[in-house]
Amino acid sequence: MKLSAFLLTQLCVGFVQCSASRCLDQAVKLMEESPLLDTHIDLPQIIRSLNRRPLDALYQLNSSYPGHVDIPRMRAGRLGGAFWTVWAPCYDVVDEDPGDDFNTPTNHLRDAMEMLDIIQNMIARHPDDLQYARSSADVLDAFKAGRIASLIGMEGTHVLGNSLGALRLFAQLGVRYLTLTHTCHSAFASSAGFGTPIPQAHEGNGLTELGRELIKELNRVGIMVDLSHTSDTTMRQAIALSEAPVVWTHAGARALWDHPRNVPDDILRLIGDGPGQKDGLIQSIFFPPFIGPWPGAPNVTRVADHIEHIAGIVGRNRVGIASDFDGMYISVEGLEDASKYPNLVAELLCRGWTEEEMRGVLGGNLMRIMDKVDAVSESLKGRWPSSAISEKRKDLPATKWGGGGINTYWPTDVKEKVEKMQLRHDEL
Ligand SMILES: [Zn+2]
Repeated sequence: MKLSAFLLTQLCVGFVQCSASRCLDQAVKLMEESPLLDTHIDLPQIIRSLNRRPLDALYQLNSSYPGHVDIPRMRAGRLGGAFWTVWAPCYDVVDEDPGDDFNTPTNHLRDAMEMLDIIQNMIARHPDDLQYARSSADVLDAFKAGRIASLIGMEGTHVLGNSLGALRLFAQLGVRYLTLTHTCHSAFASSAGFGTPIPQAHEGNGLTELGRELIKELNRVGIMVDLSHTSDTTMRQAIALSEAPVVWTHAGARALWDHPRNVPDDILRLIGDGPGQKDGLIQSIFFPPFIGPWPGAPNVTRVADHIEHIAGIVGRNRVGIASDFDGMYISVEGLEDASKYPNLVAELLCRGWTEEEMRGVLGGNLMRIMDKVDAVSESLKGRWPSSAISEKRKDLPATKWGGGGINTYWPTDVKEKVEKMQLRHDEL
């Protein structure tokens, strides 16, 4: 494997032996011993975007596939595991309108289920290369078997149909993290938007009551709370509320590049194991407009700068790597696609990060957090599921389900009870 030219120039100057190539050899060796887990890869959306029948395209991943990711490039990049993303674009992108109260049904829940179906079938179609994983033990099993651990992340609560019941079922289907928003507000939480300020939503531009219930439910079912994409207030409220560690599955440091998608230092200082802090993890993204300088051509050293800045506040045991491959229109020089991960690992090794620290950055830090989230879930086993619903819903109680004037579907005593009910959906 060859190191990109710019890195050689940057790192080899003045060295008798080229430290860059030595670091790259060391990186590859380390990645063959310890799995690199990338917490955000959008390959499923590429499959869905390119094919009317997405499942028919899955076999193509064994060879060159459009975008940043396919199996040969993941193998070349020594990728140990990936979180495949269940995502559907926000309603404004697909010309749907949930209304000011987020209560008008959209297609997002169906689309999210179909994305999850693509992921499950993608894993099943490539049993020699991909292996489903949910826990850290699953990850290590897959890695030892020589397969890429395949975990599932869900991005944005706008896909949940405002329903905690839907969330619980996604948990059963293996979803391991939930990003509280994408670029739009939802019935649960306020978003940071797309980069330019968007009108605020909800009280204080943070979590709603339903969003607070959601956090408790995520803790209970063992899904990691992901604060990427959320407003600063949502971040602060979720950190305070969550009983389990929180994560940013793909974000950068705002102090290095002032973008609302990045995490500001004062919020980073809330992460740790000191008084008033919550354990957590920040996985550094590769997207040039977030890491800056932008417009410009940020390279792999810039991603390492973000990791080092974040680690300087939260510690080297609370950082990791998240490409956002296949979810961005431009990539970083030196990290152009899934074959290039070793360049970033080499960069940090050359900066003096120890192999032990790097095992953490690759995946050890994340697996520690996953274990802690699972332990919290285990401790909450006796808690009943939340019965909360969106207060704005007009379909509950289901007073129209008796068949209206036909009176087809209700026994007589049920009909009489419904007719005597004070609370009617049309009175909300
Ligand atoms: Zn994202």
